[in-house]
Amino acid sequence: MADALKLDISDGFAVITFDKPDARANTLGAAVVAEFHKVLGELKGRTDLTGLILQSGKPGMFIAGADLKELAMADTSRPEQIRTLIEHGLAIPAMTEALPFPTVAIVDGPCMGGGCEVALGFDVRLGGTHPKFEIGLPEVKIGLIPGWGGTQRLTRIIGPSQAAEMICSGDGARAARAKELGIVFDIVPSDKLEAEAKRILIGLHKSGTWKQDRVRRRQPVGLSEDQMQFTFTVARAMVLDKTKGHLPAPLAALDAIEKGCNRPLEEGLKFETDAFMTVVGTPINKGLIAVFFMNQKVSKDPGVADATLQPKKVTRVGVLGAGIMGAGIAAAHVRKGVPAVVLDSNAQALEKGIAGIAAGFKGLVDKGRMKPEDLVAALARLGTTATLASLSDCDVVVEAIVENEQAKTGLYKQLEPLLKPDAILASNTSTISITRMAQALQKPERFAGMHFFNPVERMPLVEVIRGEKTSDATVVTLVALAKQIGKSPIVVKDGPGFLVNRILFPYLNEALLLLEEGATPREIDKAATAFGMPMGPITLYDVVGLDTSLYAGKVLQAAYPDRAVISKILEDLVSMGRLGQKSGAGFYKYGKGLKGDDDPALAPILAKHQREKRTFTTDELQQRLFLPMVNEAARVLAEGIVRDPVDLDMGLILGIGFPPWRGGLLRWADATGLKNIVETLKKYAPLGARYAPPEPLLQRVSGFVPRFHFI
Ligand code: NAD
Repeated sequence: MADALKLDISDGFAVITFDKPDARANTLGAAVVAEFHKVLGELKGRTDLTGLILQSGKPGMFIAGADLKELAMADTSRPEQIRTLIEHGLAIPAMTEALPFPTVAIVDGPCMGGGCEVALGFDVRLGGTHPKFEIGLPEVKIGLIPGWGGTQRLTRIIGPSQAAEMICSGDGARAARAKELGIVFDIVPSDKLEAEAKRILIGLHKSGTWKQDRVRRRQPVGLSEDQMQFTFTVARAMVLDKTKGHLPAPLAALDAIEKGCNRPLEEGLKFETDAFMTVVGTPINKGLIAVFFMNQKVSKDPGVADATLQPKKVTRVGVLGAGIMGAGIAAAHVRKGVPAVVLDSNAQALEKGIAGIAAGFKGLVDKGRMKPEDLVAALARLGTTATLASLSDCDVVVEAIVENEQAKTGLYKQLEPLLKPDAILASNTSTISITRMAQALQKPERFAGMHFFNPVERMPLVEVIRGEKTSDATVVTLVALAKQIGKSPIVVKDGPGFLVNRILFPYLNEALLLLEEGATPREIDKAATAFGMPMGPITLYDVVGLDTSLYAGKVLQAAYPDRAVISKILEDLVSMGRLGQKSGAGFYKYGKGLKGDDDPALAPILAKHQREKRTFTTDELQQRLFLPMVNEAARVLAEGIVRDPVDLDMGLILGIGFPPWRGGLLRWADATGLKNIVETLKKYAPLGARYAPPEPLLQRVSGFVPRFHFI
């Protein structure tokens, strides 16, 4: 037994308190499920009780969901094992619904997945005011669907449309929304929850209305044929639009809701189980669970081997440069409570940067993603200065001025003597060596890269780059700071392109070479999006800016001349002023929106560079784009650029949107089979060194376990 549940009976009330020992979160593993069965079994015949309350013993936490470690270890090749797991879970709400007295679940914190399904079996859910309150069924995010009745019970409580939206997106509802939807009966201050729950139980006990409600919740929802058609056509279209057809779980959930909603609950639950069985254990499910654990690893990683090393408290940051990146970096800090002072050598640029930050926050307020009072507080934390000396009280200064080594090191030399002795200086450079720039400093150990991605507001990744002399103390503080502002930092050793741009380069460059061989921009982009990338490489050029890409590409070509093949297409387009979205045309042309249209003017430009005109299959295009990335990734690992394959996979998922459901680049390679990859690479050997499997890849293939990830 897990000793997680305590049953108290007094004054006619049964109270179950869930408090999993030695754990921060309450999760539902097999042992806890068995305890639920036992405790609910004890209450089964108690006609003497006024009611039951389920609550958590952990403040700000109800039930985080199923125990994913157990789920990941379940033998999905044995369907009977999975069906047993489902039956055990389904029995919990079935038992609460059969109790001969009313029931209230007190939810004052996260109530997710299996936890939500347990709560949905109660007559009333009473929400608390704890800021961590959230209720939802996020199973699709790990490639599953709710399997303990969530698809059927939520549908009967809030209606099929709303239930479909919540379940197919996996997004939880905060307190106000949960009340509005009717998932919770009310939101009550945390310290009043128990008294209120008892008051509700007494009322229900007297009125007896809970009995009719239970009968009603077992009935079909009763939608007309037209309503059914409308609801599910819209829902299916929304899911397909969002998932581009890559993810089967939201569709399976929708199927279960559709088939079950006009049937009695018992039948609906069977549809749900059948739908669950179609998604569990699939490569997508496994890939997404792996990403869940990799994410956890990244979020707990201090960034250095010495786990006792404490980060320095950062109470104020300085930001050099108020351009696209500097403004974004300053905004990210002040939004998360870290005061920032911004300096720019150009007064107009500074003014524009600050105005942009304020406008960005206002936009968030308008969209309901930021409270007006938080906007005021964030702006109060934002300062500007024209003098370097005003940065003397900053704990960390992030430099984001023009990408020019002399400009950067010149500025460091002026700034360093003015800083506090233990202050850290970090550069947001995309292409310049951290180790080399550190030579301009008196204290190279206090210098590192802190590479944010554009747009900073939306991109979670920060590469914390260690130069040769960067100290652990510097790394641990920058990693903690990045987490403090809500980012996912990954520590990377200095080297051209660091991690993400280095592995992205072969992919982007290959797209240009494919154009030279006669592939069209659209078919290249389509092959990449069909693989699961959020956008194709040609569109990505337009988004990043062709000039920026050209510059970064040159640095990587110079660094790896053995395998980088140069295409002149970018140079040509840049010289014509076709810089991408920002100039209205790049590979595509742009009207008002950001969606690119085919541009007839591009064809003659491309024709100049075309060496041949052949047709390609999607498979071939995908192999051409992604296999050089695998080669580069094998080198990156062998060079110790990252400490772990997890960092590499998460870096690409967070930095370029590599499809998480493929588990990351290296997990995808593992799933494809490294031997198969080497075989396929042979086919492309005539194209040159970039397709030759590098030694570290061959070593893995001939090794004892031919994989990148061992777990
Ligand atoms: P930007 O041109 O938008 O902004 C640079 C700002 O620095 C300008 O406002 C300029 O006036 C100011 N500046 C120039 N010299 C200065 C000096 N000596 N002192 C103070 N201010 C000075 O550039 P950006 O796109 O924000 O890029 C900034 C840095 O971030 C670069 O190192 C770039 O490589 C890196 N980066 C850019 C991106 C991106 O997508 N734009 C992404 C990641 C990293």
